[in-house]
Amino acid sequence: MSESSASVVKVIRCIVCPTGCQIQAIQKGSDIVFEGYTCKRGLEYAQQEYFEPKRILTTTIRVKNGFLPLIPVRTDKPILKEKLSDALNEIAKIQVNAPIKMGEILIESILGLESNVIASRDLTEK
Ligand code: SF4
Repeated sequence: MSESSASVVKVIRCIVCPTGCQIQAIQKGSDIVFEGYTCKRGLEYAQQEYFEPKRILTTTIRVKNGFLPLIPVRTDKPILKEKLSDALNEIAKIQVNAPIKMGEILIESILGLESNVIASRDLTEK
């Protein structure tokens, strides 16, 4: 295989530490290799981001009898990007009761994943 068959298919900014290395995912034949990282954590981040990107999901849930009608929520662990839409649909079906404490689990193991949906603030009753 010649060097000229390699091409950059994605550029990933590592966010694991403030250095912010720019990592390149390079197609070499049938393989993807990574360049530009300066530590193992960066390589692991780039591999995760390239092959199975995950995100923390943030949204709101409807609240019955709350001081506000909606409460901001987020997942306590990142979930696969491809599952975000299904998770949002699941969350849209839910209504919770006030009072709610920040960090309280409002949906356990959403979609059967390891992530819980938790409250991002306190919310008192009206
Ligand atoms: S590759 Fe390592 S040094 Fe570079 S930003 Fe990522 S964690 Fe930091």
